[in-house]
Amino acid sequence: VYRVQIALLILAAMLGVAALVLLKIKVPVPHFGRDYVIRFELPEAGQVADLPAVAGPQDPSRPLVVLDAGHGGHDPGAVADPFREKDITLGLAQALRAALLEQGGIRVALTREDDRFLVVEERAEIARQLGADLFVSIHADSAGERESVNGASIYLLSDKASSEAAARFAARENNAGRVNGSDVSRQNEAVTDILVDLSQRRSQADAAEFAGLVQREGTDLLEFHPQPLRSAALRVLRAPDVPSVLFEAGFITNSADAERLASAAGQRRYAQALASAIRVYFARRSGV
Ligand SMILES: [Zn+2]
Repeated sequence: VYRVQIALLILAAMLGVAALVLLKIKVPVPHFGRDYVIRFELPEAGQVADLPAVAGPQDPSRPLVVLDAGHGGHDPGAVADPFREKDITLGLAQALRAALLEQGGIRVALTREDDRFLVVEERAEIARQLGADLFVSIHADSAGERESVNGASIYLLSDKASSEAAARFAARENNAGRVNGSDVSRQNEAVTDILVDLSQRRSQADAAEFAGLVQREGTDLLEFHPQPLRSAALRVLRAPDVPSVLFEAGFITNSADAERLASAAGQRRYAQALASAIRVYFARRSGV
């Protein structure tokens, strides 16, 4: 009988701690002349507690695009008074969602709906956990004093960063995980490496195709940077199984770009161009 009682006590204590962690309650620590820090084991990095709502048709077979408004909360991104990148990216993401929902057939989720901070890994992880078919991270840039620099560009994950990310991901997922819907937990490491690598290659190829479509569909609607297609080691693009691009919409340090980026009419043009690119991209795959 005692054993059962002890077990129940331990269980109650564990549930209590779990509740504190889940509810993010901070326990006030009495001050004894020095600072104490209480550390809880949090879920592993990359786990997302609250997934955003998915708008559009309630049919999971419909393609899902996750739009990521860059920066937010205490991180304003690029600033050129009165423009802040975090406001512009949210406005662009919302305008794009509205354009996509208006045309129908495509499901849309935003990584953030308001002025909140998300860590970079969380953004891609939201897309993975929702099972997104495409991930578009939206940003705007600053060129400092060089006010003439303008135009949009599209970033892909660089090949080197891509293979490094695949290796890291494979190492993490070797114990337990899923890549592209296939359970890799019981596969041996070599097989996992190959699966992740193949998945990453396909995602990269798809992302490159989408980047080309953004350029094509934006020709008449947007101003592009002279070198619009770029690649870089961007952490936000490292999901191995979701084609991901970062759309740098323009420069807030350029007055024409800033006007386009911050006005409702300008944001609708960006939304129109990107929505067309997204529509063509999915139509090529599933015939939306
Ligand atoms: Zn940015």
